[in-house]
Amino acid sequence: MIEKPKGTNDYIHPESTLRKEITNKITSFLENLGYKPIETPVFENIELFKRSAGITSDIVSKEMYEFQDKKGRHLALRPEITAPVVRAIIQNNLLLNHVIKLYYVGSIFRYEKPQKDRYRQATQFGIEYFGQEDYLADFETILICHHIYNSIFNLQVEVHLNSIGCQECRPSYRESIFEYFSKFEDKLCSDCKRRLNENPLRILDCKNPVCKEISNEAPKSIDHLCTSCKKHFNNLLQTLNDFKIPIKLNTLLVRGLDYYNRTVFEIKCNNVDLAGGGRYDYLVREISQGKYDIPAIGFAGGLERLTNILQEQKTFKSLLKEKIRINLVSLTEKADKIISGIYSKLLEKIVLKKKINTPDIEIYLTKFENLSKALKASDKLKINYVVFVGEEELNQDEVTIKNMETGKQQRTKIESFIPTLIGLLKDE
Ligand SMILES: [Zn+2]
Ligand SMILES: [Zn+2]
Repeated sequence: MIEKPKGTNDYIHPESTLRKEITNKITSFLENLGYKPIETPVFENIELFKRSAGITSDIVSKEMYEFQDKKGRHLALRPEITAPVVRAIIQNNLLLNHVIKLYYVGSIFRYEKPQKDRYRQATQFGIEYFGQEDYLADFETILICHHIYNSIFNLQVEVHLNSIGCQECRPSYRESIFEYFSKFEDKLCSDCKRRLNENPLRILDCKNPVCKEISNEAPKSIDHLCTSCKKHFNNLLQTLNDFKIPIKLNTLLVRGLDYYNRTVFEIKCNNVDLAGGGRYDYLVREISQGKYDIPAIGFAGGLERLTNILQEQKTFKSLLKEKIRINLVSLTEKADKIISGIYSKLLEKIVLKKKINTPDIEIYLTKFENLSKALKASDKLKINYVVFVGEEELNQDEVTIKNMETGKQQRTKIESFIPTLIGLLKDE
C-alpha cells in the first residue's frame, strides 16, 4: 500500500467542502474590495527565495524543498507566495500601474517537523498591495485581515503589531540588539548563537524558552524608530484604535523573513497564529535588481489553521449548508430515456436557478433493479426525494416522487414533473 508523504493531507468531504466554502467567502470578500486573483508556479528559481526571504531565514536555510531538474537548474517548491507574486508583477510589467491589489490562494511547501497546524504542504491565502507608502495602506490591510477572521468567521482575534523601522533607523537598532544579546551569548540556543552574527533581530523570534526570557528585556525597535517611521506607526495605531480594532503592541514581533520593514503584524486567536504580514517596501527593488522601487504591504493566512479552529469551535456548520438531494431512479431499461430526460432538464434548471428561486439541490442519476434496492441506496445517500419510473409509471406516462422523510408518495405526469418538484422544493 502506497501512502501519502509525511506531513501532507488528503481532504475529503465534509472537510474538503468546508475548505472550499471558506475560500469562497474570503475570495469574494477580497474581490469586492478590488483585489484581483493571481496565480504563480508552485516552483521557482531558488535564487528568488534566497534573495527575498534571506539565506539565513529558517524557511530558506532549513525548510525549503530544493531540487535540480534534468537540465541542472536549481529550483525550489515555493515556501511562501509573496516573493513569487513580486517576481510575477515585475516580469509582466504590472508595475507601470500606479496601484496594484492582488490576492492569491495556493500551496506552499516547507520541510518542517509535522505537527498539528504544521504541514509540509499547506494552503495560504493572502493579499499583496503595491504602490502605497502611506500608513492608510497598512490600515486597510490590517482591517481587511481582521475582518476576515472577526466578521466573516466570527472569531475573537487579536492583532499583534510592531514596527521594525526602515533602512535609516534599523541599523542602529540592530546594533543595540547585537550588543544586548552578546552579553548572553553563552545562554542562547545554538541557532541563536548563529543568528547573533547573521541577523540578531531573529533571536526575538526564537521559541526556545531561555532565548524567549532573554528577549523579553531586549531593546525595543519602537524606541529606535526615525521620525518618519514613528509618525507612520503612530498614525496607524491611532487609526486602528479609532476603529476599535483590538490591537496588542508586541515588541518581540519581527517575523521570520528578511524583507519586512516598518509595520509587521500577526492575527492570533487563543494564541494560535492565524495570519501574518507586513510592509515590504524594499522587496520590489531587491527582486527587480534596482529597476523598480515600489512600496508594498500584504499578509498571508493559513487555510488549515482557520479550518481547524472553525471545526474546533463548531461554528463551521452554518458554512456547510445542507442541500436538497434528489435521486432520479430508473427501474427498468424502458424508463432510462425518461429519467435521463428529467436529469437533463434539471441540469438546465440548476444552471438557471436564479429564475426559480428554490433551495440549492443536488441531483443523482441511478438505476436499480427494484424499488427496495433503490430506497436502501437512497437512504445511505441521505436523499430527500426519490423520483422513480418503473413499469407501472411507464404505462401511464407518469413518475413517482417519494419524500424520504415523511414516506409520502405522489404520482405526476412526466410533463408536469418539473413544476411539481419546484412546488415541493419551495415548501422546504
Ligand atoms: Zn525609519
Ligand atoms: Zn534561540
